[in-house]
Amino acid sequence: MRAIQVRETGGPEVLAPVELPDPEPAPGEVLVELGAAGVNFIDTYQRSGVYRMEVPFVPGLEGAGTVAAVGSGVTRFSPGDRVAWAQTSGSYAERVAVPADGAVLVPDAVSDEQAAAMPLQGMTAHYLVASTRPVGHGDTVLVHAAAGGVGLLLVQLAKARGARVLGTVSTDEKEHLARTAGADEIIRYTDADVAEEVRRLTDGAGVDVVYDGVGRDTFDASLASLRPRGMLVLFGGSSGQVPPFDLQRLNSGGSLFVTRPTLAHHIADRAELEWRARELFDLITSGRLDLRIGGRYPLRDARAAHEDLEARRTSGKLLLLPA
Ligand code: NDP
Repeated sequence: MRAIQVRETGGPEVLAPVELPDPEPAPGEVLVELGAAGVNFIDTYQRSGVYRMEVPFVPGLEGAGTVAAVGSGVTRFSPGDRVAWAQTSGSYAERVAVPADGAVLVPDAVSDEQAAAMPLQGMTAHYLVASTRPVGHGDTVLVHAAAGGVGLLLVQLAKARGARVLGTVSTDEKEHLARTAGADEIIRYTDADVAEEVRRLTDGAGVDVVYDGVGRDTFDASLASLRPRGMLVLFGGSSGQVPPFDLQRLNSGGSLFVTRPTLAHHIADRAELEWRARELFDLITSGRLDLRIGGRYPLRDARAAHEDLEARRTSGKLLLLPA
C-alpha cells in the first residue's frame, strides 16, 4: 500500500511517500480501506519532534473508511461497515489497522470526507464546550484562531449553546469565515491589542472563558481578557508551547482558572466517545454543523498540507485523499 512515512523528525520535507506492506489487523483491530485521512496540527508536533515519536512512523491520527477485515475478538464491526476514528497512529496510509474500541460507525447520510473531518477537531470542540467548561446562555467566550479547524467548530458549537462568541483571526478571508460560522465579534490579533479589544467589546467586564489553541503568542492576552473567576482553557500551541508561569498571576488576575485538557481523556470511555460522536453526527446530518473542508490533498502531497497549515494559509479542515 501507499503511505507517508517519517524516518527522521524535521520539517514538512520529512513526510516521504513510500510503499509498505498492508497492515494485519491484530486482535481487537479492524483493517480499514481509507476513504480520507484528517490532517491536524498535532501531526506537525509529531513530525517535527515537539511530541516525541519512535521513528520510523506513519503519521496521522484520524480518518474514515470502510472495514475490509476484522481481527480476532472484534464483534462491534463487520467487513463493509463504514467507520471513523480519532486516535490511531498510521492514518496517512491507504490501509489502516484501527482499534475497534476507538472507532465509531458512520451514518449513511455522512460522507467519508465529512466523517474524516469530524473525529479529532469535532470531538475536541465538543468536549471543550460541553465538558471542560460547559458553555451556555449568558456566557461570553473568546475563541482564538476562530477560522481554524477546531476554531470554526468551537464557534458554531458555542453559538448553538447560546453563548456570545468573540473570535480572533489573522486575515480578511478568515474573518469572513468566522463570522459566517456565527462569531459575533472578530478581533485581528495580528494588529490589535486583544485584551484591550475584549474589554471594549464587553463593557470592561472580560469574558467568561477563553479557548486558546495558539499558546505562546496569545497566553498573556488570554489571561488578561478574563473576567474575575473566568477560565483559560489552553488546548494547544500552534504558535509554540507556553513557558512555565507564576501561579500567583491567577490570584492577581481575579481568582482565575487555567486548565490544559486533551482529547484522549475525554473519549477513553466508550459511552463518552459514542455520545460525542452521536451528537456531532446528528448536528451534521441535520445541517446545523458545517464541517468546512478548507483543503483536499492527494495522500502523496501530505508535505504540502503541513506546509500550508504551519504557514497559517489554511482554514477549516484539511484532508488527505488516497489517489
Ligand atoms: P488550525 O486549523 O487551528 O491551524 C492553526 C491556526 O492557528 C492557524 O491557521 C492560525 O490561524 C493560528 N496561528 C496563530 N499563530 C500561529 C503560528 N505562529 N503558526 C501557525 N498557526 C498559527 O489547527 P487545528 O484546528 O488542527 O488545531 C488547533 C489547535 O488545537 C492546535 O494547537 C492543536 O494542537 C490543538 N488541538 C488540541 C487538542 C486537545 O485535545 N488538546 C485536540 C485537537 C487540536 P490565524 O491565521 O487566524 O492566526
